[in-house]
Amino acid sequence: MRLDCLTLRGFRNYEQAHLEFSPGVNLILGENAQGKTNLLEAIYYLSTGHGFRTRKEAELIRFGAEFADFSCTVTGRQRQQTLRAVLFSGRKSRQLFLNGVKRKTQAELMGVLTTVLFCPEDLLVLKAGASARRRLMDQGLCQLRPRYEAALQEYNRILEQKSRILRSRYENPSLLQVLPEYSQRLCQVGAILISYRARYLQSLGQEATKFHREFSGGRETLEIPYRTVSTISDPFAPVSRLEEELFAHLQSHYQGELESAQCLTGPHKDDFDATLEGLSLKSYGSQGQTRTAAISLKLAQRELFRRDTGEEPVLLLDDVLSELDPGRQDFVLNQIQSGQVFITCCEPGRLTKIGTSFHIEKGSILE
Ligand code: ATP
Ligand code: MG
Repeated sequence: MRLDCLTLRGFRNYEQAHLEFSPGVNLILGENAQGKTNLLEAIYYLSTGHGFRTRKEAELIRFGAEFADFSCTVTGRQRQQTLRAVLFSGRKSRQLFLNGVKRKTQAELMGVLTTVLFCPEDLLVLKAGASARRRLMDQGLCQLRPRYEAALQEYNRILEQKSRILRSRYENPSLLQVLPEYSQRLCQVGAILISYRARYLQSLGQEATKFHREFSGGRETLEIPYRTVSTISDPFAPVSRLEEELFAHLQSHYQGELESAQCLTGPHKDDFDATLEGLSLKSYGSQGQTRTAAISLKLAQRELFRRDTGEEPVLLLDDVLSELDPGRQDFVLNQIQSGQVFITCCEPGRLTKIGTSFHIEKGSILE
């Protein structure tokens, strides 16, 4: 899969820009705050239907502009397609186009452009809070499985509604009658999430272990066991059983949820551990080990895409290389030799030899 060109109008700090890319490594160079990450964000949006630094569409529209209009041409499976998004600053909802035809949902654009994004925060993902790891699972799964994305959106919607009922339990006690209904529905959809996540983490773990082993000269074995609701005895069990087990746990927390006015249990608390020889990286890992494991996870994500879709996803590396020591830089650069890659960095140094460079200054591409 390859991104041929990108056109931006009113996106972030770009008034107007057009870039034609190379099928290999594309280096996006420039000083701080010039628009390097913004460029990756536009690519990521066309790939996934949202930005990676914000969920607020208004932030993606250039200050003072009424809309952002951005598009790209993608070649995959011997076929060229165009993706386009138009975001409006007012209430008007966004418009998405595939090959010039308006589409209602992002799901219809799924798979046209798949990307794996890697940014400095990802290097810390194994030390950070659980939400960072849930995001990693969700990002990977949403691009691979449209049904997962739909289930995740529904889960979050029910969760939000249930939380609202819990918060207003004193002002609006009659609403508590519908609480069991919401809990039941939450378990139904939650069971689907758990089922997908267990399978995804299993495959991701297998691939990540290989990368990490190679990285550590065969010395270390990385494992990423799934941690979900404690009543789930086997996350690979049929969804109906997962649902029952989830419900049992919810019921035992009924009083607690009422008292705290929070949804206390469910896959919205999911996590995964990362261990080397059984020892948790979070508690015992050195900085280098943690970074190495995080890189292995990202490379594994890319590998799963390739395996699943038969195509190489476009790799977006935002500022990552500058955070790595030369040994790890070399490992990453060796692993990414195939496929198309976008790398942003401030100091080009030795990198400039490896690909086509674009110099960005204040939202303009310098020739
Ligand atoms: P760094 O090297 O520090 O990561 P960068 O080149 O990646 O820098 P970006 O994050 O791409 O920088 O761009 C940041 C700039 O874009 C900031 O100056 C910010 O004010 C500007 N910017 C962000 N959103 C908008 C917007 N909606 N309209 C106009 N400018 C914006
Ligand atoms: Mg940046």
